[in-house]
Amino acid sequence: MSLPRVVLLPRRARPFYGGHPWVYAGAIAAVEGSPSDGDAVDLYSDAGEFIARGFYNSKSKIRVRLYTTQPDLSLDTAFFRDRLAKALALRTSILGLTAPRTACRLVFSEGDGLSGLIVDRYDRRLVVQFTALALAERRQMVCDLLVELFDPQSISLRTERGIRRTEGIDLKDGPLRGELPAEPIEIEEDGLLLLVHLAEGQKTGFYLDQRLNRRAVAQLARSRRVLDAFCYSGGFGLHAARAGSREVLGIDVSNSALQLAEKNAQINGLSGISFVRDNVFHRLQALESSGRRFDLVVLDPPKFARTRQAVEDALRGHKRLHELALRLLEADGLLVTCSCSSFITAAMLEAQLAQLAAQGRRHLQLLKRRGQAPDHPILATCPESEYLSCLIYRVG
Ligand code: SAH
Repeated sequence: MSLPRVVLLPRRARPFYGGHPWVYAGAIAAVEGSPSDGDAVDLYSDAGEFIARGFYNSKSKIRVRLYTTQPDLSLDTAFFRDRLAKALALRTSILGLTAPRTACRLVFSEGDGLSGLIVDRYDRRLVVQFTALALAERRQMVCDLLVELFDPQSISLRTERGIRRTEGIDLKDGPLRGELPAEPIEIEEDGLLLLVHLAEGQKTGFYLDQRLNRRAVAQLARSRRVLDAFCYSGGFGLHAARAGSREVLGIDVSNSALQLAEKNAQINGLSGISFVRDNVFHRLQALESSGRRFDLVVLDPPKFARTRQAVEDALRGHKRLHELALRLLEADGLLVTCSCSSFITAAMLEAQLAQLAAQGRRHLQLLKRRGQAPDHPILATCPESEYLSCLIYRVG
């Protein structure tokens, strides 16, 4: 049975022969066979050549998400079982993320050839995010396969509000299989216990993408006075405290995040770490004025740029943070600066810091360019799947 066809405009096929999975409305000449939103479709060039197979959504700017270039492969349960099994095998056989209480990303959308599906693992519990309507519609199948392949204690759903709107997904957050715990559960990261609130936490509960960057910061934190700006439930700061930092101050605007952070310090028996609820921009300014100084500053702000149009404003935000951090750092201090938007690249942050170094006559050395942990794999043919930058500088 032949599928409805989406035919590209002349000269618009190159990205898809190159393996890019998103077909935007602007590249499309015609849609033949009236597919419903969420249906499988075939992508054809204007010359009538089959290019790839994907799911259609007339409501989304991404009209077609592509999954395979093999014309004989249906996007059925067997196909998804195979892709999910491959995603799981990366985390277990290759990355070795198998210990009890592990938290990691099991499925990273484009990165795992499963555009529109995110699955995070917290010990034996899974949290699913659908970022494509077609996958949301296939949630029973996805859950069945996750039960078959992973045997989780529960599977629950989280959806970002923006995605609901842009994809036309109308689903309520909550359990899909099993019961959700009312209380935060404990996960373990490099031997540190961390509480995660699956029903209410930010993202799916925790910022899993920074896992190895927290480890990298811990390795630099000994005997240092650490400022953890945008600390959420304390991740970077707690790792630093356990590694023997002299003191740690965490700042976040979210009360519920800071409650978890305090509890996290307690259950790990950590002292010398305190948390304050404030706007980071205001608090850094106040700390600077009062003469407080630090030897290691972590800046891990939320996504400042969600679109290309927002880049300029976002860079202003990063610049203000960089200026304040440089003033708070003692000579020979360390600056860890992050961006979790694919629109703000490491190169942009580096250019900005080079400029600030020259203007302020500070000697900045880039020690390490880091990114998202490998359980958030970057699809070689989809540069947008690389989104997290984490730069470590020595500030003289
Ligand atoms: N570093 C954290 C993740 C940080 S996510 C970790 O490793 O887990 C970004 C955090 O910034 C969120 O917790 C959010 O509540 C907080 N936030 C956003 N805007 C803020 C602001 N202006 N001032 C302080 N915190 C802010």
